Amino acid sequence: MARSVVITGSTSGIGLGIAEGFAKAGDNIVLNGFGKEEDINKAVSKIGSLGDGSVIYHPADMTKPDEIADLIACAERTFGSLDVLVNNAGVQFVSPIEDFPAEKWDQIIAINLTSSFHTIHHAVPAMKKSGKGRIINVVSAHGLVASPFKSAYVAAKHGMMGLTKTVALEVAEHGITVNAICPGYVLTPLVEKQIPDTAKARGITEEEVKRDVLLAAQPTKEFVTTEEIASAALYLASDSARQVTGTHISMDGGWTAQ
Ligand code: NAD
Repeated sequence: MARSVVITGSTSGIGLGIAEGFAKAGDNIVLNGFGKEEDINKAVSKIGSLGDGSVIYHPADMTKPDEIADLIACAERTFGSLDVLVNNAGVQFVSPIEDFPAEKWDQIIAINLTSSFHTIHHAVPAMKKSGKGRIINVVSAHGLVASPFKSAYVAAKHGMMGLTKTVALEVAEHGITVNAICPGYVLTPLVEKQIPDTAKARGITEEEVKRDVLLAAQPTKEFVTTEEIASAALYLASDSARQVTGTHISMDGGWTAQ
């Protein structure tokens, strides 16, 4: 039977890849995130063409608790249940701590951490009602280890690991699992855009930027793909993963083994 799947921040990158994976599996999808209206319409129809399920778009801003509440209610309203919640929306800002703007800190904590409190807060009653559910948090290698100049991002992602474990314990007897996926570098549009500028600034080739700058910490020297992350999410959402809860799947080319 088609599941009802909400994916925050799914108009681009990893979230879009996860939406494609669940759509191919025949599920009903609620897309969310920012973008131009025409691009969002294209994403809705492309994802809708991948399987037998339906696709809708909800514009909730992950900094606005009321809009987040409505995103979760919308999945129940439209599809009659909420089976899988993927907390994926996220932003980055890089700066030494003493120059880090307080408003950037607040924005990153709101989008990368607090929004998942709100989605989970509203999703758990719906999942308890149906006696099953899957909560999948797209975290990062930065939920496990740090890098300099990313204080808000690393703090939020470490917070997501704590939230994952805590909620997993609270809902364990209700057929609901809560897990994290911790990717290393993924070549999303966001990362791709930085490559030409970095190459120019450092006087090196784009290939050298990928290998020696972006993938410096990633032993395989390869990017993780959005399809690989979607496969992990589909596994965590499957019946086979019933006993997998309160933990994470690292997909980081060996980064956090060092
Ligand atoms: P992306 O920029 O391609 O996508 C981010 C998505 O979040 C977009 O759909 C965007 O519209 C949405 N978004 C941003 N602010 C929002 C808001 N206020 N409300 C609703 N939606 C909002 O980035 P991505 O690389 O696909 O990142 C997705 C997630 O994966 C993030 O949580 C990120 O931290 C995590 N991640 C990314 C990488 C990587 O290398 N790209 C690595 C590890 C973890």
